[in-house]
Amino acid sequence: MARLAQTAGLTDIQQEILSTVRDFVDKEIIPVATELEHRDEYPQQIVDGLKELGLFGLMIPEEYGGLGESLLTYALCVEEIARGWMSVSGIINTHFIVAYMLKQHGTQEQKDHFLPRMAAGDIRGAFSMSEPGLGSDVSAITSKAVKDGEEYVLNGQKMWLTNGGTSSLVAVLVRSDEGHPEGTAPHKSMTTFLVEKEPGFGEVRPGLTIPGKIDKMGYKGVDTTELIMDGLRIPANRVLGGETGRGFYQMMDGVEVGRVNVAARGCGVAQRAFELGVQYAQQRHTFGKPIAQHQAIQFKLAEMATKVEAAHAMMVNAARKKDSGERNDLEAGMAKYLASEYCKEVVEDAFRIHGGYGFSKEYEIERLYREAPMLLIGEGTAEIQKMIIGRRLLEEYRFQG
Ligand SMILES: Cc1cc2nc3c(=O)[nH]c(=O)nc-3n(C[C@H](O)[C@H](O)[C@H](O)COP(=O)(O)OP(=O)(O)OC[C@H]3O[C@@H](n4cnc5c(N)ncnc54)[C@H](O)[C@@H]3O)c2cc1C
Repeated sequence: MARLAQTAGLTDIQQEILSTVRDFVDKEIIPVATELEHRDEYPQQIVDGLKELGLFGLMIPEEYGGLGESLLTYALCVEEIARGWMSVSGIINTHFIVAYMLKQHGTQEQKDHFLPRMAAGDIRGAFSMSEPGLGSDVSAITSKAVKDGEEYVLNGQKMWLTNGGTSSLVAVLVRSDEGHPEGTAPHKSMTTFLVEKEPGFGEVRPGLTIPGKIDKMGYKGVDTTELIMDGLRIPANRVLGGETGRGFYQMMDGVEVGRVNVAARGCGVAQRAFELGVQYAQQRHTFGKPIAQHQAIQFKLAEMATKVEAAHAMMVNAARKKDSGERNDLEAGMAKYLASEYCKEVVEDAFRIHGGYGFSKEYEIERLYREAPMLLIGEGTAEIQKMIIGRRLLEEYRFQG
């Protein structure tokens, strides 16, 4: 039987990396994921294993000690990992976005300082745009940096930092009016600061507090936190790229690759849900035969598999477009939108196939059912993806009459 979600045209190296990751997922992640998730326990042993495999440096250039792989390789690895446990892909994702932003926009000193230790997984990254009063509308950010000699003083509150507690480097987007005349468009007066801190909770650096973990419905194990800046002093050489006013563009660039990553997570979770559904459907009997032999269930499986295939193809297309050096906001937006919606639908169908047992915490599908909704929100909601897609379509299909 042809397995679902195959990718044509991979190099030998890509295939080798993927088979190593799949093996790791099957042996080290799937057997423990549900138990750890129910305990909301950080998967330290799994993270150590990922470090050993070099996954924290997958896309970091070789000159900085990484593997220098493409976005496609990265996305396919994320798909495999999310198939095992979505929270583990969340631990890598913000790290990956920060490393990508440093590689694309950092000064030479910043790259030399951070990237080798990020490649080794010794420094792990989080990124912070959202605030209590905003998520989609990034231009409404109120946290602020004011210059004071050779330093900036940061004040404000941030919300929803994935890996906020466990990371030691946070890329924080704040408003910085310095050097920008009043009336400058909001997106031109924002700056990304590279904030180093101790991992943990409480006051992790003078002026910087990570209050504690937000209690979530799913996506447990990985910590999600607030971040409070109260007179936090950051040296000027920790402005990403060395120049203020460029933060909005840097973050949007990071989020664009992050969207491919979220699409890949949707693909992985949907694949796992399909696997669980198709197995259960052949074991459970009703009316004298396995439920897989009832046409209604077979149709469900057919729909689920078609969605898994379609989402995978769009995700691969979006990653390849970025790897080719072309703009991929349309493809990434479409892939993220489709993969997250399909993931939710495939998970729900697998849940229905499980009947009452799907509601029991003993069955893996219960965990997936609580995880899938996060993908509808993170890296931009469905409405935000549709705004991006719609705007791009009107650019491409401009009425010439
Ligand atoms: C578990 C988790 C982890 C996260 N991790 C991070 C992280 O690491 N870093 C980070 O910065 N953020 C993170 N976020 C925040 C996430 O990016 C935001 O929640 C998301 O962008 C949505 O913002 P919001 O929650 O403020 O919703 P809002 O922006 O308030 O939107 C509410 C609703 O209104 C809709 N809406 C908003 N504007 C429009 C419009 N113009 N037209 C139509 N509909 C609209 C939205 O689609 C949504 O349905 C995380 C969130 C979660 C839940």
